[in-house]
Amino acid sequence: MNGEHAAEIAKTRAKTPGWKPYRYEVVGEGLGLMIRGALPLDAGIWGPHEDILVTALEIRAFEARYETETGKCAVCDGSGQVWAGYKEGEGHRYRPCSRKGCEGGTLTVTA
Ligand SMILES: [Zn+2]
Repeated sequence: MNGEHAAEIAKTRAKTPGWKPYRYEVVGEGLGLMIRGALPLDAGIWGPHEDILVTALEIRAFEARYETETGKCAVCDGSGQVWAGYKEGEGHRYRPCSRKGCEGGTLTVTA
């Protein structure tokens, strides 16, 4: 489950314009994500809080649509690289996307 895709879905459902996610919690052993968010008002000050549940099925549908419309891989967002961790002093590390049919972020085979 890609949290950024889930956030895109959640933003379309938020009652407060400008709502931003600040915490992701996996629910139901991977059945969905509870995204806690609010409207950022000022440094460290948040407006009305709103929790939005996005299901794994919704995320999968979003990713399928993204791939159909763009021809890009939803796993790596078309970059060809996926996040592989963070190391103090080195920063974020990435590795090539291992999705079948993904070549440099572009799908050569669609499943
Ligand atoms: Zn990929």
